[in-house]
Amino acid sequence: MTLKVKQIKDWGLGLTKPMIISGPCSAESEEQVVNTAKEIAALGKVNVLRAGIWKPRTRPNSFEGVGEVGLEWLNAAKKETGMLTATEVANGKHVEACLKAGVDILWVGARTTVNPFSVQEVADALKGVDVPVLVKNPINPDLALWIGGLERINQAGITRLGAIHRGFSTFEKTPFRNIPMWDMAIELKRKYPDVDIVCDPSHIAGNRDLIGYISQKALDLDMSGLMIESHITPSVALSDAAQQVTPQRLGEILDSLQVRKASTDDVEFSSKLEGLRNDIDKIDDELFHMLSSRMKLAEQIGEYKKDNSVTILQVGRWEEIVNKRISLAKALGLGDEFVETVLKAIHKESIRRQNIVMNQAGEMAGK
Ligand code: PEP
Ligand code: MN
Repeated sequence: MTLKVKQIKDWGLGLTKPMIISGPCSAESEEQVVNTAKEIAALGKVNVLRAGIWKPRTRPNSFEGVGEVGLEWLNAAKKETGMLTATEVANGKHVEACLKAGVDILWVGARTTVNPFSVQEVADALKGVDVPVLVKNPINPDLALWIGGLERINQAGITRLGAIHRGFSTFEKTPFRNIPMWDMAIELKRKYPDVDIVCDPSHIAGNRDLIGYISQKALDLDMSGLMIESHITPSVALSDAAQQVTPQRLGEILDSLQVRKASTDDVEFSSKLEGLRNDIDKIDDELFHMLSSRMKLAEQIGEYKKDNSVTILQVGRWEEIVNKRISLAKALGLGDEFVETVLKAIHKESIRRQNIVMNQAGEMAGK
């Protein structure tokens, strides 16, 4: 199905690209919310104040949010600073409370997007209301589930709809708390170009140090905004202490970001870019012609192996190919991981083709 959505710039909230959302992971006290809000508003770059009111925690007995009273604190901060407000909703009651309090933007958290029952409950509570909603990616790397979440909210009639990319849970040890898997966000954008994506570098990073780097990468991928957690005193934060930044640090990060254009009217630049793109198109054509020739050779080998009753997979030969190509790739300045991924895909397709050849031959022999 298609999604009928409005881009953030058309939400009627005066937001321009990149939209900056910031504020504490959790609302902890009125003082903390209002003071954080005042300091980040003073930077002149933050459009929306965030704060979690109901916190979905991995383990019980940790701080689970202050509940509805936090909505009053968000309103106090809004009154003081003029910033828009945003918070996370995970069920129908949350939605009702937020609508009553007049929260400007709602978001569906990663732990909610994984559960279609919960997303549907949120969607049902949103029927007949016109409030902007952002849907975080599910904690597991499942694009269909992310799209499903957007579809459920959209079907409830919400058109001021966007997505938040906050990375994905993994067993692997990586520098990230949640690996970005940028391809997932790129694929979402390719499928639904009108759905604006906001990047949440805080939950991707899990620590303060990587936030600037991830934010720049998100902007370079033409994402529409950033959601960065900030706290007046991060070291004593009741949730996500390691990844929250002080308002001052937030200012430094935002000042260091380069916002590049997705396109330009400069004729010289455009014609040069056009030329380089033509070269790339030519090389891509050649690559596919060569891949096709390689597959034809694989098929011939398949026939030959069949005639001589030899197995398709010969591990020794595969090892030899990988090792030879990796040393060549190194000399050519290509990364090991990239070369291995490409080789694996080529090998998989060769085996698939050889299988077809052998099965056809087998059928014929059986006739
Ligand atoms: C949050 O934004 O504080 C939060 C709980 O994030 P996520 O749903 O991405 O884990
Ligand atoms: Mn958080």
